[in-house]
Amino acid sequence: MELAHKLLSHLFPSRCILCQKALHQVIELCPECYTSLPHNESCCQRCALPLPEELGNSILCGRCISKAPAFDYAHSLFRYEGSVIGMVHQLKFGEKISHARSIGEMLWARLLQTGESPDCLLPVALHDSRLRQRGFNQSIEISRVMAKKSGIPVEYDAVARHRRTSAQTGLDAKLRKKNLKGAFAVVRTIAYEHVLIIDDVMTTGATVDELARLLKNNGVMRVGVLTIARAPLRC
Ligand SMILES: [Zn+2]
Ligand SMILES: [Zn+2]
Repeated sequence: MELAHKLLSHLFPSRCILCQKALHQVIELCPECYTSLPHNESCCQRCALPLPEELGNSILCGRCISKAPAFDYAHSLFRYEGSVIGMVHQLKFGEKISHARSIGEMLWARLLQTGESPDCLLPVALHDSRLRQRGFNQSIEISRVMAKKSGIPVEYDAVARHRRTSAQTGLDAKLRKKNLKGAFAVVRTIAYEHVLIIDDVMTTGATVDELARLLKNNGVMRVGVLTIARAPLRC
């Protein structure tokens, strides 16, 4: 079996997402491309907002100091810039759903580093009409890969996207918050103490903050957020 697998991966190698180089590994990013990506290492320790390199990752950003978010922690693999933008777009708009496997593997490795042990994964729900339009939910695809690696269950339908929110792109933080008010609703009891929200990109954090508040109001004790990328603050 092992030999057959080796032979197959030799005959049909996977390719690096970014440079198309043939690879014989699970994560489809060659070491060079992986290193060259903007890893979100210097960031706010609470909300993962990218910060200048010299600040490290053990301080809070101004926003978290003035008002703590509803979630307890957030981690992002990358900053939402450079080739990460294209990678996320290819996944999100269905051009390369296969990216979900590599991204799920990387997110799982990231979660292990944090030492957090959530009881369930909660992919951010899309509104039904958007789901129909796209045919799939990228956050669910990533969560599935993580669940397979970790054995942590995925909560698919306890939270519904009640109202279709207009696209968040182009709205500032205040408008995003207003746009999201009442967007999610708990439709089934959530019997978990520690929930990890999974999403592709965290921009201002308004979506996951709204969701985390809802979860806490429904008895969840600890809420974390794990995303592929975190957008830098727009000036
Ligand atoms: Zn590469
Ligand atoms: Zn922060």
